[in-house]
Amino acid sequence: MLNVMNFSSKQISNVNFKGKKVLIRVDFNVPLNHNRQITDDTRIRESLPTINKVLHDGGSVILMSHLGRPTGGFEMDYSLTPIAPYLSKLLNRNIILTRELFGQRTLDVAKELKPGDVMLMENLRFYPEEIAGDEEFAKRLASMGDAYINDAFGTAHREHASTATIARFFPNAKYFGLLLENEIRNLNKLLNEAQPPFTAIIGGAKVSSKIDIIKNLLPKVDNMIIGGGMAFTFIKALGGNVGDSLIENDKIDMAREMVQEMMLKGVNLYLPTDAICADQFSDEANTQLCNADEIPDKWMGLDIGPKSCRRFAELINKSQTVLWNGPMGVFEMESFKQGTKSMAIAVASSTISGAFSAIGGGDSVAAINQYNLADQVSYVSTGGGAMLEYLEGRELPGVRAILE
Ligand code: AMP
Repeated sequence: MLNVMNFSSKQISNVNFKGKKVLIRVDFNVPLNHNRQITDDTRIRESLPTINKVLHDGGSVILMSHLGRPTGGFEMDYSLTPIAPYLSKLLNRNIILTRELFGQRTLDVAKELKPGDVMLMENLRFYPEEIAGDEEFAKRLASMGDAYINDAFGTAHREHASTATIARFFPNAKYFGLLLENEIRNLNKLLNEAQPPFTAIIGGAKVSSKIDIIKNLLPKVDNMIIGGGMAFTFIKALGGNVGDSLIENDKIDMAREMVQEMMLKGVNLYLPTDAICADQFSDEANTQLCNADEIPDKWMGLDIGPKSCRRFAELINKSQTVLWNGPMGVFEMESFKQGTKSMAIAVASSTISGAFSAIGGGDSVAAINQYNLADQVSYVSTGGGAMLEYLEGRELPGVRAILE
């Protein structure tokens, strides 16, 4: 497993960027409402320490990002136009947004950048070469700067031109941004230095998308809590009746094997024992509390029940290390959010008692934010997919590109 702390030459805190033009890959892929106003600026704010470090050193900054998934060429809906004034306010300086990536104006602005100047390039994904990781495209981007910093953890699992290929053109001047470094440091802490008891809470819809993370965590954790829709595949594998709950029939054998592996490795598996069941997938459904392994036909479990919440919370509160990824129920609906809410509270309260806690994945992060508990946990990851891949034990192309 990579450990950036062993690579001090890649840390920007050890470099002075005075007089340098620095290309920074940031993650400005922020949610916008129908008026194209930014509804959550977390990713922008989290890029500030790295940008400010370069500016305070006396360097200039060329920012590169993507936004959404445009299908080809310029589309107003995916333009970075709303980001420029917002960032300008946060940095308290003018931001020059350049439209055509390699147009004359862009090249001129890049050439004339003075210390303290900030240029923001338009959405890189307007060019198919970005996702293709195109070498020539990366080379042209690289030609505008003297150094490259990757601070976009959210796309570090992608082998794109601006996240990976470009690093090749800076063999002696490529670095981890402060955000990326912090993410990797925290994830390494979880994977390599976790204090026992270590409890992983894994939820969400499908077991198929979480198999690899569960497998990779098994040798490291003491307790594995499995909730959300995916719990029902395990409960069925153990002989329970799950009614019409979400099930992946082709994963039942694998769930059974995983339970056996947990027993062999001495990992305690915690599945919900009770569930809030509904007669349809709707907030207006009729509901009843059932044993999680005795769900009647035509009813489906959409949240963990109060007994499970208490049991899981007690365990979390006794843990020294806690990792949470994925909701315990259909938390988007008022009637089925209690399980996820109680996990958010339990993780925060274990942190207050001294545990190291890490939260990742869009839904768990949304939940912790919804209950204003984000600053009560040790670490909230900015990258859902990237965090999962790292915890699955995979090398992230964006990280590898800096270290190579
Ligand atoms: P994932 O992307 O795999 O982490 O899954 C997140 C989704 O799982 C959320 O949209 C939840 O609504 C959904 N989910 C959680 N629990 C259940 C459940 N018991 N039945 C159906 N969907 C669920």
